[in-house]
Amino acid sequence: MVSLKQNRVILGFDRLTIKVGSALLVDAINGQLRQDWLNSLAADISRLKKTGMQILVVSSGAISLGRTLLGFEDKSLSLTQNQACASVGQVALAQAWRDALAAKKITTGQILLTPNITEERRHYINARATILTLLELGAVPIINENDSVATSEIRYGDNDRLSARVASMIGSDCLVLLSDIDGLYTSPPEADKKSIHLPMVRSVTPEIEAMASGTKNHLAKGGMATKLDAAKIATRSGTSMIIANGTKNHPLAALASGAKHTLFPASQSPAAARKSWILGTLEISGSIHIDDGAALAISKGKSLLPVGVKNISGDFDRGDAVSIIDPKNIEIARGLVSMNQTEASKAMGKKSEAIMGMFGYMNRTELVHSDNLVSIGQSITGNQDHE
Ligand code: GLU
Repeated sequence: MVSLKQNRVILGFDRLTIKVGSALLVDAINGQLRQDWLNSLAADISRLKKTGMQILVVSSGAISLGRTLLGFEDKSLSLTQNQACASVGQVALAQAWRDALAAKKITTGQILLTPNITEERRHYINARATILTLLELGAVPIINENDSVATSEIRYGDNDRLSARVASMIGSDCLVLLSDIDGLYTSPPEADKKSIHLPMVRSVTPEIEAMASGTKNHLAKGGMATKLDAAKIATRSGTSMIIANGTKNHPLAALASGAKHTLFPASQSPAAARKSWILGTLEISGSIHIDDGAALAISKGKSLLPVGVKNISGDFDRGDAVSIIDPKNIEIARGLVSMNQTEASKAMGKKSEAIMGMFGYMNRTELVHSDNLVSIGQSITGNQDHE
């Protein structure tokens, strides 16, 4: 096996998201977990973690494993039968990941997401904080869609796009889609002998989209089309994306030895993309007027605490963007607020100890966490990021 030290493709990244497709985890013939393969991936993850990389996994396989456990095999299923499979299979899937990574002394945490969590900022800031905390604690979050309760209208349905949303939400600098194909070809390679593999795609243009075959096997939800959607989501948030063949054991080590893949490089870092998003894209829902002490704290990259707030205006909910104004009436920062306007008004001017537990549902005492705060005038490629 090739040492991960030689890894030219993925070793340069700090926070790696790995998406594992059902077709890799579950044997298409007997519907059983591919245990040896999973153990080999756990060994690769362990090696990468030892280099200091943070790793999270978006794993499919719940419905496939549930089918086997409930005796459905490849019959076509109703929505509720599928959801029952997801419920049964998710337990087995989480256990398989826990056991495989525990053998490498790595702790796992499970996160099940629905689109409202990744798309609505008041949920998103919580999910982001939880995943970042797991990563800081050295755990590997194992993420999947909450298929047993998500209704068909409000689900991703494929983990290609879900993993891209997760990677962009938490500022992952690389997303590896482990698939049963080693990247994008100019046409489906199984049907066209003249088809050419593309090692790098700088932009997902209509011509590139026309190359996506959309082929899939009966266990996989996504095809090349959802992978290209994922590339668009990922790269605009500063996450580079790689499609690689993960079928054989030690798929990340294979990338290390230069295995064929397609790279969709991001043109900026996740921190820079997030700053431009907060500063440039979001509608401002309110203003927070602060004192000199709070202004100084923000200039040093600290969070905004309610104690430094003098006045609040506008109408905002948790997760909305607000403008932060100093005593000279100058807008010095923008950020995503952690409290709604009623809570912020109650907390305003109070010390953190007085706010702890005040709103029942959480112990968050920052009004705008430093992770969600961008100083105005701060170069978006500058170094004041808190991720
Ligand atoms: N979330 C689904 C599962 O765990 C898989 C979706 C996909 O294959 O992309 O079964």
